[in-house]
Amino acid sequence: MKEAEKDCSTAILSQRFHLKDAHGSITMPIYAGAAFEFDTAEAMEQAFLGKSGRHTYSRISNPTVEAFEERVKEISGAEHVLAVSSGMAAISNTFLNIAFAGGNIVTTSHLFGNTFSLFYITLRAFGVEVRFCDLLNPAEVDKHIDEKTCAVFAEIITNPHMEVADLKALSQLAHKKNVPLVADSTLVPWPQFNGRCLGVDIEVASSTKYISGGATSIGGLILDHQTFDWSKSPRLGELAKTAGKTAFTTKLRGEISRNIGAYMAPQTAHLQSLGLETLSLRFERSSRTCRQLAQFLQTVPGVTDVHYNGLPTDPFYKLSCEQFGEYPGSMLTFALKDQPACFQLMNNLQVIRRATNIYDNKSLIIHPLSTIYGTLSDKLKKLVCVPANMLRLSVGLENFDDLKDDILQGMK
Ligand SMILES: *Cc1c(COP(=O)(O)O)cnc(C)c1O
Repeated sequence: MKEAEKDCSTAILSQRFHLKDAHGSITMPIYAGAAFEFDTAEAMEQAFLGKSGRHTYSRISNPTVEAFEERVKEISGAEHVLAVSSGMAAISNTFLNIAFAGGNIVTTSHLFGNTFSLFYITLRAFGVEVRFCDLLNPAEVDKHIDEKTCAVFAEIITNPHMEVADLKALSQLAHKKNVPLVADSTLVPWPQFNGRCLGVDIEVASSTKYISGGATSIGGLILDHQTFDWSKSPRLGELAKTAGKTAFTTKLRGEISRNIGAYMAPQTAHLQSLGLETLSLRFERSSRTCRQLAQFLQTVPGVTDVHYNGLPTDPFYKLSCEQFGEYPGSMLTFALKDQPACFQLMNNLQVIRRATNIYDNKSLIIHPLSTIYGTLSDKLKKLVCVPANMLRLSVGLENFDDLKDDILQGMK
């Protein structure tokens, strides 16, 4: 992509495909093998040193996965993309790349369930501290950052709280203290969301959701915009002397990803490349239906607290429009009287499926507190702040009327 095209105001993000198959196949074939052969020992040496761009072993890189990574680079405008086996692998690999014993992560406790558990339980065992604060309050965030902070971490829309942080403001105050902003951008895909223009340095995303193309496979992505100066980073500072702005990616590709061994499988990359081709169509359709449903739910007796950032009455509406444009995805939450009322509605539904996951082609409903957060202790349940009377609905590609009728008959 040319520099001019990367201008934030124009953000033309076409899905050009430059990696050609040897036979000219329009769809990149699935290179399912583990290893790649070389004609000479010298060529093999060059490949292992990363000097020829050739593939050696599919834990490290693979032609089918590379083609997918290139497509994501095009639509996101990122300088580098690494595809991994899940959204959680994207987040864990990222923090294994920048966190360190004695270091800390500044974030909120309003996080996706496993991200919360990764920060609060798993990384803590390695001496990494998580500092929860209110990301909606920049002054408070500022107070929590110190010289041992490895990142400020934010979900662009918190799931299921539906809070929207001001990414530009967070980025400015993090950068002032030489700290990168890492954002989970799963909820609004590219090119609708442009992290680089909002000051995000590193993006992580679960490609299981919108990108997979209807929940076909589990996958994750790590995007490096190469906007951050790593020279003062406690973990990457030394490497930045030679690698400069590519320090994050150099370490991630050259060390962390290979050692952890969670690179994306070629079969997954194939499915997700197909998914990318229909991404914007699906996004638009499901988002439009979601907004209609959010408006409709506000009129249903017994339904309260409908949250969708794309409603003009939502407290985050203005910021959401600035950061995500017309549609902030197709997930909404609403509340009923209590948990039994939630369970009753769920059990009555005929079209909407009782399943976890979001951004499937099918509409999915879940009661978050009893499932995603079900195994947390009472103390941690308080910390994550998910009400017992809340339902989360991810809207798919069905007709609006069918979904509306399903909810109406379910509420009877
Ligand atoms: C689903 C999800 C994840 C985890 O992704 P997996 O692909 O399930 O590992 C992380 N963050 C958010 C916001 C998610 O919705």
